[in-house]
Amino acid sequence: MAESRQGLILINTGPGKGKTTAAMGTALRAVGNGLRVLMLQFLKGSWHYGELDAVTAFDGNFVMKQMGRGFVKVGGAETDPEDVKMVEAAWDEAREAILSGEWDMVVLDEINYAISYGMLDPAKVVETLKARPPMVHVILTGRNAHPSLVEIADTVTEMREVKHAYQKGILAQRGIEY
Ligand code: ATP
Ligand code: MG
Repeated sequence: MAESRQGLILINTGPGKGKTTAAMGTALRAVGNGLRVLMLQFLKGSWHYGELDAVTAFDGNFVMKQMGRGFVKVGGAETDPEDVKMVEAAWDEAREAILSGEWDMVVLDEINYAISYGMLDPAKVVETLKARPPMVHVILTGRNAHPSLVEIADTVTEMREVKHAYQKGILAQRGIEY
């Protein structure tokens, strides 16, 4: 039987650890199959993650970009217009990448936070996902995935926190958190 390939929408959400790293694991699997992967990280920017260096080994077949500056203040008047601008720029690039067909998989890391903080209209994301070329896979990560995105997604996984080292006062560890 011929392989039937189609683009899927995946969401990794919930309070437990593993949303971004599971997306990177899927991306690694895709790259190994010859797919081209772009990962755009909303809001992130102040930390240097090991994966940013690791993906340079893939020669443009796995590209990762930080599109924010970290430490976002949110909620009404607290929201810095500069952060909103960065989310808008990230979304413009994401939209173009998804619709271009240049990438087989586009990972929108932490986009669920940008939406739940009111910095990005989920209707725009739904519209773009529906209009994408049929073979393109898209993965969205972050807590509090918007119901309208959950509705159109094919595979949705909610990470449940059983325990986290942070609760014992253990700070972020190199190779585990960054
Ligand atoms: P990871 O990048 O490790 O896969 P994540 O994408 O599921 O984590 P985020 O919500 O993006 O989690 O938060 C990123 C950071 O917060 C990571 O350093 C992660 O270890 C930490 N973190 C995630 N879940 C928890 C938790 N339940 N308690 C404390 N810290 C957490
Ligand atoms: Mg994450």
